[in-house]
Amino acid sequence: MPHKNYNTKPLKCFVCEKSLQVIDIEYNNRVNLPVCNTCSGSAAEVDKEKELLEGLADGFVCGCI
Ligand SMILES: [Zn+2]
Repeated sequence: MPHKNYNTKPLKCFVCEKSLQVIDIEYNNRVNLPVCNTCSGSAAEVDKEKELLEGLADGFVCGCI
């Protein structure tokens, strides 16, 4: 059975999907996903964030939003 080490799994920017080094990563607090320095604070990040949050809202029926 293959053993995966989750501590070293590659992280990707949730906006541009570029692979990230740990030192490059910032976290978007609203979606709790890694974002690269380039995308952090950009309009593209806001768009993607909105897309993801809307997707989550569709998937959940808890009515807590
Ligand atoms: Zn990026």
